[in-house]
Amino acid sequence: MTLVDHYAVFGYPIKHSKSPRIHQIFAEQTGQLLEYGAQEVPAEQFPTAVATFFIGGGKGLNCTIPLKELAWAYADKKTERAQLSKAVNTLALQPEGSILGDNTDGIGLVTDLMINHGVNLAGSKILTLGAGGASRGLIAPILEQSVHSIVIANRTIDKAINLASEFHHRGTVTGCGYDDLKNQQFDLIINATSTSLSGELPPLPEDLLAKNGLCYDLAYSNEPTIFVRWGLKNHAAKSLDGLGMLVEQAAEAFFIWRGVRPKTLPVIELLNSERNNL
Ligand code: NDP
Repeated sequence: MTLVDHYAVFGYPIKHSKSPRIHQIFAEQTGQLLEYGAQEVPAEQFPTAVATFFIGGGKGLNCTIPLKELAWAYADKKTERAQLSKAVNTLALQPEGSILGDNTDGIGLVTDLMINHGVNLAGSKILTLGAGGASRGLIAPILEQSVHSIVIANRTIDKAINLASEFHHRGTVTGCGYDDLKNQQFDLIINATSTSLSGELPPLPEDLLAKNGLCYDLAYSNEPTIFVRWGLKNHAAKSLDGLGMLVEQAAEAFFIWRGVRPKTLPVIELLNSERNNL
């Protein structure tokens, strides 16, 4: 009898998740025998659903909106980057039976920017829009790249200031509101708000992007997102969406579970070609 290891993504909603497809391609590419499903889990059912999954023999989970903070609380042990981000997107059953929580979102973004797009972040002035779960996961991995500074701007200003204060000891990080961005310029603007999902933009002042600056929207869709279009209109050298990050964070989770690194570029190219052909 052949034993197949089980993995899944939990979220609410989850219908449109690309994770099952991505992990199935990784498994075929690396010769790993596994199944990866998707399960719609409302927040209030999360602890029971996770316990049932692992008791039933599951080996690892991805958790997405709105479950990352709950996954952080659920994990028995956390990696340093998960501890810092207070959000977990990857749960992994450990040999002795405990559940390890990690956050692979930040490393996914940094890998997509630096490896896939050849961006050197050292010395860059970076603006992160949003102070929610995704923004939280990005700050430490970006600071590790010897950037000049990170400004976190958020609609609810207190959240940006509080988030920045948690990282003061690791680099130059400040929090503010959108009005405070006037007369400032940045080399990289990351949209970590959820505004693109509803076709909106945060209120961004003119001339925010430095010459040859870059824009990166964590959101992705089959059409260029409204923030990707904002970047192009503002003469960004590159204006990217979060599809590459999605594949890279998945690859990091796959590595945590299986100890094997899948090749990500063919998967990004495949998913890109599919949306271009729509
Ligand atoms: P959260 O709900 O935790 O945070 C949402 C953020 O957006 C908050 O800062 C919120 O501000 C801000 N926001 C929402 N509406 C508005 C608005 N109308 N105007 C200004 N700001 C607004 O979401 P996440 O952080 O988990 O996710 C953010 C985005 O990142 C999503 O689009 C998600 O799909 C994407 N993502 C992509 C990943 C990838 O792999 N590509 C991985 C993870 C996330 P306030 O605090 O004031 O409410």
